[in-house]
Amino acid sequence: TETRLVSARAISLGGRLALLTVRDISEAERVERMRHDFVSNTSHELKTPVGAVTLLAEAIESAADDPAQVRHFASRIQAEALRLGNLTSRIMNLSRLQSTDSLAETRAVSIDEVVAAAIDMQSVAAESQGVEVVRGGDRGLYVRGDVQVLSDAIANLIANAIAYSPAGSRVGVGVKQMADAVEISVADRGIGIDESEQNRIFERFYRADQARSRRTGGTGLGLSIVKHAVQRHGGDVRLWSRPGRGSTFTVTLPLIPAPDADERSHKKSG
Ligand code: ADP
Repeated sequence: TETRLVSARAISLGGRLALLTVRDISEAERVERMRHDFVSNTSHELKTPVGAVTLLAEAIESAADDPAQVRHFASRIQAEALRLGNLTSRIMNLSRLQSTDSLAETRAVSIDEVVAAAIDMQSVAAESQGVEVVRGGDRGLYVRGDVQVLSDAIANLIANAIAYSPAGSRVGVGVKQMADAVEISVADRGIGIDESEQNRIFERFYRADQARSRRTGGTGLGLSIVKHAVQRHGGDVRLWSRPGRGSTFTVTLPLIPAPDADERSHKKSG
């Protein structure tokens, strides 16, 4: 794109229109390339579990007279099918969040409700990993948005915090009121993220360390979904991390007045 712009500038003899046209084409090309990358990454990711299911089905066929083996392969097929299902629903979520359609439902959303739902969604994972999730900070704050999308986003951060933390450690979920915003932070004392990878982990399908990530069975889509979900709400997500020390992801969302107080002030003025 850069080379193209330079050469266009050289040829166009100062023709502003020509330059604008080239910029437009480059933007269209960029979007097209993103779409192409998304489809090819997605297909690649789907191929792995589909291939595994095929092989396992063949294995069942040839182990037909050994019930123990059949059960073993069948349960592995179930696990792969589950993974395929998760992957598909995450891809759908991401594509919905990236589309230009507005959010399905927006209303005043209680951050207390979002955080409680997110912690609840991860309670089984926390228990099985031996990690305690602790909620702290301010209460009674509201944002405008889709409660489901926001809860899923925070749940994704908590899921990562749990997955990349040692057993017996704590994950802190904090809420902090700022002037016009609310900050929701998810902090862990886990493996941390190398500085060179901190920007890339928000990209679709990116996983910091293949071996480490594979162990947790991740898809590399979680943080990309978080980023898009938060941006759709006019907010942003930041990361602090040090390898070996832990990570803190902080989501910032625009604050709105508590709906009750709002109603009261309407009554007063009316
Ligand atoms: P995954 O499904 O692999 O967890 P994500 O998009 O949620 O995908 O995260 C991308 C990568 O970022 C992960 O594979 C992992 O390497 C890294 N990562 C995310 N959250 C954490 C965390 N809390 N601690 C350490 N590494 C993390």
